[in-house]
Amino acid sequence: MQKRVVILGAGYGGLVAALELAKEVTEQDAEIILVNKYDYHQLVTQLYEPAAAAKRDTEVRIPLVKLLSGKPIRLVRDVVTRIDPKEKRVFLQGGELTYDYLVVALGSETEYFGIPGLKEYSLTLKSVDEARLIRTHIERCFAEYPYDPRPEYMTFVVGGAGLTGIELVGEIADWLPRLCEESNIPRDRVQLYNVEAMPSILPGFDEDLAAKAEAILKAKGVVFKVGSPIVRVEPEAVHLKNGEVIRTKTIIWTGGVRGNQIVVDAGFETEPRGRAKVNEYLQAVGYEDVYMAGDCCFVLNEQGRPYPPTAQLAIQMGSCVAKNLCADLKGGKKVPFAPKILGTVASLGGRDAVGKVGERYKTSGRIAYFIKDLSQIRYLAKIGGLMK
Ligand code: NAD
Repeated sequence: MQKRVVILGAGYGGLVAALELAKEVTEQDAEIILVNKYDYHQLVTQLYEPAAAAKRDTEVRIPLVKLLSGKPIRLVRDVVTRIDPKEKRVFLQGGELTYDYLVVALGSETEYFGIPGLKEYSLTLKSVDEARLIRTHIERCFAEYPYDPRPEYMTFVVGGAGLTGIELVGEIADWLPRLCEESNIPRDRVQLYNVEAMPSILPGFDEDLAAKAEAILKAKGVVFKVGSPIVRVEPEAVHLKNGEVIRTKTIIWTGGVRGNQIVVDAGFETEPRGRAKVNEYLQAVGYEDVYMAGDCCFVLNEQGRPYPPTAQLAIQMGSCVAKNLCADLKGGKKVPFAPKILGTVASLGGRDAVGKVGERYKTSGRIAYFIKDLSQIRYLAKIGGLMK
């Protein structure tokens, strides 16, 4: 008898789960419904590029009709508002759905740590729309400055020097000379800060790679404030713990992520940052009919430390969930989630990058950038995103 599989979210985890499940089951086995807020898949790992005018928005979003064309997957474009796992129901802005199996792949939300003013006055980089907002905001600052030449307009602050903050600040640093030239504003009027709470940038990265990234970005004019957490934000000021105040019209916050609140509100067992606890097959604790994939899922490594919420893990989780759903629908053995860390590369703007391939080999410069590009192409090939 046909079962209904509802997949929430067409990000890395949800899209891969849907596509791989559709390859393995027939329409007699399952009706696959993919629910997504937008009618496109976002290449979230590339958002720093349109945010700094290095790519067009259309280069980091792929229409879902293209990716799902000819596949037995029904797309429901709607916003999930609530999940009731006891009643096996999902509530959407425009209706509701029942399911036999559910995949929750709703991604993460920005963590503001309760810092006063931060949520109200900062920009974030979690969607193509937000990338466009950052780009147009920066362009507007350059357009306003000739009429109101206060330094606040020419001071840009990126909060957080994790991978998101570093990739964004590198790309903005590359964009500034072009903006200055177009607006006829001398480059030395512009300040680009990256503020980090921890004593060094890219916490968790090998020290030598982080130091290399810092040197490259400093040479492009980025001013780092490390070991100085942001403690308060006002419409035109960022306050640091050391008492320093940066007067600015622009604070872009990349200081942390947490799980999706919908997952917490649904009553799934979660860790303190809102990510759902799962068993080895990625089933939510206490619910064998609910799988979790991507940033909203909490998985520990062999040393008992949580895996970071990355695209490569979300993609691997999507594959694992598809296999396990297939076992549920057609019989067979489930497979435990066994992630392979392929490496981490941080782009530094231009064609520069630093990172690691696998867990050991360090790389930098154009080769590192090429490796990052290659992994993107491999992913696009996997989801069918390369075809015109
Ligand atoms: P993150 O949590 O990794 O980094 C946030 C940074 O902000 C941390 O360094 C933290 O110390 C700092 N911070 C926190 N509070 C602060 C404060 N009050 N003031 C100043 N700084 C503060 O977040 P992220 O960079 O968005 O990354 C999220 C996840 O996505 C990570 O797992 C990351 O590995 C992944 N990611 C990967 C890539 C890539 O592979 N190229 C790119 C982007 C993100």
